[in-house]
Amino acid sequence: MAVRQVRVDGDPILRKKSRRVEKFDQSLKDLVKDLFDTMYVEDGVGLAAVQVGLLRRLIVIDDRKDTLMALVNPELVDCEGQEEGMEGCLSVPDMAGKVDRYTSIKVAYQDLEGQEKVLEAEGFLARVLQHEIDHTNGILYKDKAKEMFRVDQEDPEDQEED
Ligand code: ZN
Repeated sequence: MAVRQVRVDGDPILRKKSRRVEKFDQSLKDLVKDLFDTMYVEDGVGLAAVQVGLLRRLIVIDDRKDTLMALVNPELVDCEGQEEGMEGCLSVPDMAGKVDRYTSIKVAYQDLEGQEKVLEAEGFLARVLQHEIDHTNGILYKDKAKEMFRVDQEDPEDQEED
């Protein structure tokens, strides 16, 4: 297991566009494993390669329901509806924000063997996918957020007792 360091807001790499993945080899699979390891340690539901400092169009997702997958060169090809929801990001620690996202989407991507596929998603999964695809284009959710909130790690009542 190899947990990689997550880059945080302010690191210029997070603002760069990732490059398409052209080689579907063992090193891609190793990287995917590292991304999953890192995502689980950080307790995330999605992670893009750029968040560990690699400008490759590659994301991993685990919505903690039905979907656990790696998407190579993901691209939004269709979208419908709009809904507001809360988001956080491992690269923007201790914050959350209200963001409008498409309700249902279609994403074209390649699997780890390079096979072209299409995924349809709605609700929370659609939100996670849009958030991660934005990362591959150098966009952070806070750019789109209508409101941002500080998320305190400690219980405020405990702090009063100090
Ligand atoms: Zn993020």
